[in-house]
Amino acid sequence: MTKKEQKIVRSKVAIERHYLPAEERIKNFEEVNLGYLELEEVIKECERCYQCFTKSDPQIKPPPCMKYCPTHCNSRDIIRNVLDGKIEEALKIIYKHYPFPRSVERVCPGYCQLHCTAGINGDPIQIPMIKRFLVDNYGPLEDYFKCNPDLDKKVAILGSGPLGLTVAFYLRKYGIKATIFEKHEIIGGMLTTEIPEFRLPKSVLNTEIENLKHCGIEIITNKSIDKDFGIDQIFELGFHIIVIGIGAQKAKSLKIPGKDPLIIMQALKFLRSHNLNENIPYLNNKKVVIIGGGSTATDAARVAKRLGADVSILYRREKEHMPAGKAEIQDTENEGINIEFLVNPKEFYCIDEESQGIVCQRVELGDKDVSGRPTPVPIEDIEIKVEADYIIEAIGQEIDLSGFDTHRFKTTKSNTFIVNEKFFTSVPKVLAGGDCVLGSKSVVDAVAHGKIIADQIYDFLQEKN
Ligand SMILES: Cc1cc2nc3c(=O)[nH]c(=O)nc-3n(C[C@H](O)[C@H](O)[C@H](O)COP(=O)(O)OP(=O)(O)OC[C@H]3O[C@@H](n4cnc5c(N)ncnc54)[C@H](O)[C@@H]3O)c2cc1C
Repeated sequence: MTKKEQKIVRSKVAIERHYLPAEERIKNFEEVNLGYLELEEVIKECERCYQCFTKSDPQIKPPPCMKYCPTHCNSRDIIRNVLDGKIEEALKIIYKHYPFPRSVERVCPGYCQLHCTAGINGDPIQIPMIKRFLVDNYGPLEDYFKCNPDLDKKVAILGSGPLGLTVAFYLRKYGIKATIFEKHEIIGGMLTTEIPEFRLPKSVLNTEIENLKHCGIEIITNKSIDKDFGIDQIFELGFHIIVIGIGAQKAKSLKIPGKDPLIIMQALKFLRSHNLNENIPYLNNKKVVIIGGGSTATDAARVAKRLGADVSILYRREKEHMPAGKAEIQDTENEGINIEFLVNPKEFYCIDEESQGIVCQRVELGDKDVSGRPTPVPIEDIEIKVEADYIIEAIGQEIDLSGFDTHRFKTTKSNTFIVNEKFFTSVPKVLAGGDCVLGSKSVVDAVAHGKIIADQIYDFLQEKN
């Protein structure tokens, strides 16, 4: 056999994941994307991997999946281990980077997959789905719960979202006491309160949060810096370091005329009320219009659809510019939700209960703005009237700095905390990470920050001894 004939033939098509059919899933809140169900499917998908740069040191020349993952998880080696039958080794790599990977892999934007070599000339390797199968079926490993002996150091963490939970887990591994102070009754940040059940089942998330608690993390709920204590008082309680992980939890609102008496809701509030089963609006047969193009918009639309509404989304650019993930957009459209592109909200109108809604300006795309996306430019004289019983705004989030002294904490114009390369804020011994530093971003970015912050704290406390 010639060398050419020996060359491995890799399928360009990914092994299909399992999905609930659209017509079935809009009737309930069950998980939609079921991923891979058999190890055989996973192995076949792994066989498509090119195993990039295996001859180089990954620290010097990492494979693209590792390079572009915010946590720098070496997915190439995870795949190699699966192919070699070493599932435990694969799991070790995953848990080195993620303390709650079952949840992360279900919602991960998959930067690894977006940069996968196989994707240049075919489907990229479905890396998050491979990792998800492994952790769902074989994780966590026994030593997940093992922590180093107590170092007699205490760290306070504000916020129990992905950032706070990750910092706390890796600090416990070092033997450092971690106490999370959470503003609300509920633990988990956006994972629990906003992301819907059909993308991240609460049973999955709650099991992982319980695992974290078994590692000795202390979580005190209903405690917040804006009402219970200030930064200095936390230090007075004996904590050596404080970490801020308060997220970007304040919804932005459209600044256009004519609000009342239309029923306008914030998507965050809508999703939260649904997730926590509190004051859910009655939407059956109502016309619901969602404004925005990110995950918050698609999630709100899909929840409203499941509550029986006739839903549409208005977005001011084109599909390829929507911040929501490709798969989420596809799932949204498959569920019968219409997305109207190139429309910019201009004013709300209300003649009476039967005739109310929003007037939008038709736009075309102009030069790129600072975000690198084209600016919507109004096309004069073309307006569109969209009728609605409810309008849900999903146009972004910002950081709520209530309770923080902004003379001491340096912040950007958009209210994010400014940190140095070691994640220290301008206030000594106070670090920050996740959405409150990046602006509204992603779970895996917050997890990546959390691990680095825990490492930085360990080094800092060691140096001080
Ligand atoms: C609807 C929706 C869908 C999303 N979908 C995805 C997705 O599919 N994939 C993805 O990767 N990302 C997604 N995201 C983004 C992701 O959830 C966030 O990037 C991530 O949760 C940020 O983590 P964090 O810990 O920084 O902040 P958060 O998750 O916001 O957690 C912050 C925590 O701090 C608490 N807190 C706030 N203020 C205080 C205070 N003063 N004192 C004490 N505690 C406080 C809050 O109650 C909260 O529990 C989505 C976001 C939304 C809203």
